[in-house]
Amino acid sequence: MNKFAQLDRQFVWHPFTQMRDWLQSEPIVIAEGKGAVLRDVQGREYLDANSSIWTNLHGHQHPKIDTAIRRQLGKIAHSSALGLANEPASVLAGKLVEAANSCAEADESRTPSSASSPRRLQKVFFSDDGSTALEVALKLAYEFTRRQHGKTAGQASSRARQPKFLSLEGAYHGDTVGAVALGHIDLFHRGYSGLLFRTDKVMAPYCYRCPFNRAGPERAEAREYRKCRWECIGKVEQRFSAQKKKRNPYAALVFEPLMQGAAGMIPQPQGWLRQAADMARAHGALLIADEVMTGFGRTGFVAATCDRRTSPGDSGGGHRPPLQPNLFACQHEGVQPDFLCLAKGLTGGYLPMAATLTTQNIFDAFLGKYDEFKTFFHGHSYTANQLGAAAALASLEMLQSPESAHARSALEKTLRQELETLWSSPNVGDVRQVGLMAGVELVKDWQTREPFALPERAGIRVCEAMARRGVLTRPIGNVIVLMPPYCTTRTQVRRMVAALADSVETALRG
Ligand SMILES: *Cc1c(COP(=O)(O)O)cnc(C)c1O
Repeated sequence: MNKFAQLDRQFVWHPFTQMRDWLQSEPIVIAEGKGAVLRDVQGREYLDANSSIWTNLHGHQHPKIDTAIRRQLGKIAHSSALGLANEPASVLAGKLVEAANSCAEADESRTPSSASSPRRLQKVFFSDDGSTALEVALKLAYEFTRRQHGKTAGQASSRARQPKFLSLEGAYHGDTVGAVALGHIDLFHRGYSGLLFRTDKVMAPYCYRCPFNRAGPERAEAREYRKCRWECIGKVEQRFSAQKKKRNPYAALVFEPLMQGAAGMIPQPQGWLRQAADMARAHGALLIADEVMTGFGRTGFVAATCDRRTSPGDSGGGHRPPLQPNLFACQHEGVQPDFLCLAKGLTGGYLPMAATLTTQNIFDAFLGKYDEFKTFFHGHSYTANQLGAAAALASLEMLQSPESAHARSALEKTLRQELETLWSSPNVGDVRQVGLMAGVELVKDWQTREPFALPERAGIRVCEAMARRGVLTRPIGNVIVLMPPYCTTRTQVRRMVAALADSVETALRG
């Protein structure tokens, strides 16, 4: 056995991994990567079909990001953000704010506002990964809401009223305790319920398995042929109204826009986001958008310009407005959140770095005389790390180039075409694509939608078979994720999808 494999088996505990299974075989040890290809210590090559767990954007060893990091390394790798500023992080904060506000005006026109644009995301709090980006938003929203209560109702009742959060069924927002509290994946979260504060959940759209969807199975994405009356949106409304009657309206709605990732790659029908956001706003709740997965161009060019209006009567399809290279999922439906949480792709998949963007209004609530102690008492050692910021700046510059927009648009189309081929398999129940992300839900029989039981490990078996065919990805239960880096060629996409089709055939039928 390779010596690194041996060391790994002896000492490393892997995340989200049943280590007993892990120890039964020799792990793939990655030695290098270039573009969409990973190479292991034996010299075998694999396609990185999930962008190294959704982080990589432009491919491995990208010359522009490599150069940016090397250049920064020639100056300094890290100095603290506690008490000190630095060059790349300050520039990055400005660029993120710029990129995040391309839809602010459109959203504000829906509710009158002054020229000072209260919906603008103005301030950037850096941290290290997706979970911490959410922790920051959560703590800020919590404290902001308490302070608002305090202003209107006096100290006593502000203590009595704990701000409450509403998030979506199946939600995943990270693994630190606060982020876990916002999540609703029983399998991951149940065991820690004693550690968590309580949050409420509301039905999330999941058209393929929606009890309100009256359409029988078809060979197309369930979202497109669904028959419903937007009951899922009705549920959101019910939640907000019920909470209002308890005289403790929700502080915030927390959501992944357009597609819930770890929930099982579950896309929202067009217009859901807009309606849910409007409802939350109408009830005075803040919007916390978790774009840890969906951010930085992943949602591609689907539908919509900023001012697009959708209504319950509009069931999608039909006229598509011109391409608009939105970097963030919220922008597709003109939704401007109060908190935008970014991580995974922020550095192009190179280094752990995260950002929580928020508004001037939230920021101002933490201003005061030193001894009022209104300070946001939160921070991490590597906050605003220079190497990470340098990588992020290089990545962002590429994302905003016309060449990158073009490549993403082409890749999105190729992926769509190739995924079409999967419908011929009786074990493919739903194929869900939003931009450059796709989930393929495996079932025993497409005509009954009968799922594989978890102990059958259908998703794991298929991914193991894909690895033998030189394609790496990880399943979410029975859902196979395809999320190629933006540099993936047409031939490579074809190989990814062909490996998936073959593997379904052999692992589930053969
Ligand atoms: C991955 C992920 C997180 C957590 O990010 P980490 O960097 O793994 O802590 C949070 N939210 C979403 C939507 C994610 O996909």
